[in-house]
Amino acid sequence: MKSVFKSSARVVIVGGGFAGASTAWWLRKFGETDSLILEREVGPGMQASGQNAAMARQATQDLFITRLLAEGVRFLATPPPEFRAPRPVLRRLGSALLGSDAQVGKLADVLRRAIPSDEFEIGPAANLATHPYLSGIPAPMALYTRSDGMVDLDALLSGFLRNTDVATSCAFLSAARDPDGWTVQTSRGDIRCYTLVIAAGAWGNLCGSGAGAGLRLLRPTTRHLFQSVRGKDFCRDAPFVWDTAAEVYVRPDGGGSLYMSACDQDDCDPSAPILPSNRIQEILRGKLARAFPALAAIRYHRYWVGTRTLSPDNRFVIGPDPRTAGLFWAAGLGGHGVTASPAIGRIAAQSILGLQDPPPELSPARFEK
Ligand SMILES: Cc1cc2nc3c(=O)[nH]c(=O)nc-3n(C[C@H](O)[C@H](O)[C@H](O)COP(=O)(O)OP(=O)(O)OC[C@H]3O[C@@H](n4cnc5c(N)ncnc54)[C@H](O)[C@@H]3O)c2cc1C
Repeated sequence: MKSVFKSSARVVIVGGGFAGASTAWWLRKFGETDSLILEREVGPGMQASGQNAAMARQATQDLFITRLLAEGVRFLATPPPEFRAPRPVLRRLGSALLGSDAQVGKLADVLRRAIPSDEFEIGPAANLATHPYLSGIPAPMALYTRSDGMVDLDALLSGFLRNTDVATSCAFLSAARDPDGWTVQTSRGDIRCYTLVIAAGAWGNLCGSGAGAGLRLLRPTTRHLFQSVRGKDFCRDAPFVWDTAAEVYVRPDGGGSLYMSACDQDDCDPSAPILPSNRIQEILRGKLARAFPALAAIRYHRYWVGTRTLSPDNRFVIGPDPRTAGLFWAAGLGGHGVTASPAIGRIAAQSILGLQDPPPELSPARFEK
């Protein structure tokens, strides 16, 4: 990454999380080298992209999204030669999604249409009891996906941002369109550009309206993540385990403790500070007691809150704004923005460069009707 401020660029991207970083990487891969990311924080990836659980999970109930997640996982596991990360990005430790026969079977049906069948299998959840902290799980079945895993967030972000110009501590304020492009007003001065991309996560609506966009369809929500105290049983190489009925997950953090989430999802107002809520601790305790009895009394070391930004149909929002020329979106990544980032950036860059329209399932125009 090159930390710079410049007064003009062909493409200006607002937001240095995975949406913006991956878009810039793919723009360069497709030949557009003159882009600039604006990041309000002192460095990139300090909001949702640095506060998440870093799990690469492919099984969902939405085949369209699962295919993008599978594309993402293939990239993370075997990046193209021109993607240079300082370390391997994905540790393929696998995942176990717990549920009834029917719940697990439904997820497997979707997965079967997106990844090779030797990458996953259905089996008894009791197999997980080889890890003592996962003993006594009441869910009967598990979908074991061997090609899922844990992502090294810093390595992934560094890979995307290699050789990318990023203006840090630079807040986007507003943008005005004229026949030749945009004048973007920032906290560090004005910038001229042809194309403006909103990749500002939970702040997408605010930045979009600063550029005159009528679309305010993003729904920022909060999610808390807890880190346990260290335990000798919390195997570093265990898969992450997600109870799909109770909606709670646990995953080794690689350093001897566990990350855990109650999968909370409350609307939030990103124009105000986003603070953790004590209420979620009790919700997590209750869910752990139900789904992972051996963890019912686990002690927390710390916890924090991040944002997951949803769209009305829970699919990403990628492509041109239907009403404002020269304005593009790479937003609404929900709970999949790490795993799907390679696919998201590819689609955004192809759309910006006019190489390929975004799929109608992701295009912002789908909300115009
Ligand atoms: C607790 C939690 C757990 C999660 N777990 C997973 C997981 O296991 N796997 C997975 O795939 N995904 C997970 N996610 C989702 C994932 O983190 C997000 O989908 C992804 O990080 C969103 O990336 P983004 O670039 O859209 O947003 P962000 O990372 O929030 O980036 C937006 C950037 O825009 C900047 N910005 C905002 N306003 C301005 C402005 N005016 N000027 C300049 N810059 C601005 C912000 O500072 C920020 O850096 C999780 C999310 C949370 C909260």
